[in-house]
Amino acid sequence: MRKKIVAGNWKMNKTLEEGQSLTSEVKHMAEDELPGDVQLILCPPFIHLSALHGMLKGSPIGLGAQNCSEQESGAYTGETSVAMLQSVGVKYVILGHSERREQFKESNELLAKKLDVALKQGLVPIFCCGEPLEIREREAQDAYVQKQIEESLFHLSKEDVSKIIVAYEPIWAIGTGKTASAEQAQEMHAVIRKQIASKYGQDVADAISILYGGSVKPDNAREIFAGEDVDGGLIGGASLKSRDFIDIAKSFS
Ligand code: PEP
Repeated sequence: MRKKIVAGNWKMNKTLEEGQSLTSEVKHMAEDELPGDVQLILCPPFIHLSALHGMLKGSPIGLGAQNCSEQESGAYTGETSVAMLQSVGVKYVILGHSERREQFKESNELLAKKLDVALKQGLVPIFCCGEPLEIREREAQDAYVQKQIEESLFHLSKEDVSKIIVAYEPIWAIGTGKTASAEQAQEMHAVIRKQIASKYGQDVADAISILYGGSVKPDNAREIFAGEDVDGGLIGGASLKSRDFIDIAKSFS
């Protein structure tokens, strides 16, 4: 049985006070309303991690960062290491989000290094992949995503790759209000799982959770999550509202 996961990527949103209110609401609603088999993860900005860890102590909700350095320590002004993240209770890290790839020019090669450092120190990477609109329009999305996966993941051992969560996020659907159809999401998730199976074996591929991201909302989550290879969602905009985030997670039941 694969884990069902709903992760919220807050991006660069929420002051500390706003983030604390949102966390408190999510925590209480999850306790009251969510079945125990859905793993929630909150990925706030770095600066709120420590405070939110305090609020989430004893709760099953996981804490994730939105990025980490590929370096372990040293003279890298403005960067945040995996060890620092772990020291404030972080368990997950989003790597390769399309905004990092586009705005900060993160390459597949750099992401391979970030994956190495995160895995070496025991963080669970949420590895994002996905194609831009012009690639989808040329129907070249399968090869594009397979290249991202091959170049960033395929140097990993079977044991390490089994620890990763994959998030398929078509760039044209992120923050645009345009969602991939449930069929498009399922198709790509199946392509990804097949690719992982061809390299690592079906047992490894079957155990990896593959999340969909891109304008998931309470009113479309159920349909998207129904895909047999869709194991949850990476949620941007809708994770900033506790009611929407919890309603999305409830779409699994
Ligand atoms: C994201 O940024 O990972 C994302 C999926 O955003 P949104 O849900 O707002 O499209």
